[in-house]
Amino acid sequence: MSSIFSKIIAGEIPCYKIYEDDKTFAFLDINPEVKGHTLVVPKVEVDKIYDLDDEDYQALMATVKKLAKHMEEVMGQRTLIKVVGTDVPHAHVHLTPLDENWEYGKTLKLAEAEMQEITDKLAL
Ligand code: 5GP
Repeated sequence: MSSIFSKIIAGEIPCYKIYEDDKTFAFLDINPEVKGHTLVVPKVEVDKIYDLDDEDYQALMATVKKLAKHMEEVMGQRTLIKVVGTDVPHAHVHLTPLDENWEYGKTLKLAEAEMQEITDKLAL
């Protein structure tokens, strides 16, 4: 069975898309910790990031670097890069702008218009 992220990549589940190339895909997290919270995923479906072969791992990290730099330019804050992976068994990297209002375990409820506005800013 495909993971929820594979369904997003395939367009079977909607998302706020930020970036795509042949090996990676990025979209806004549905439960953002801060405005702009983005997930970067490999198209190949593996559970843990260290299950990726070197080529896919390097492609993922190249996209992380590209999007993190762009996020910093757009948001005016250092970009935080985090790997957790306890919820969705499809490797992914979280990118979040450093935000002084961030609180552990708290997520934001953003309106669709706000999600779209931030997508338009961050999309590459
Ligand atoms: P982790 O596995 O690293 O703990 O977190 C998985 C992340 O995926 C969570 O932050 C969660 O909000 C996000 N997530 C889970 N399901 C969906 C979904 O269907 N769409 C989007 N955009 N994000 C999701």
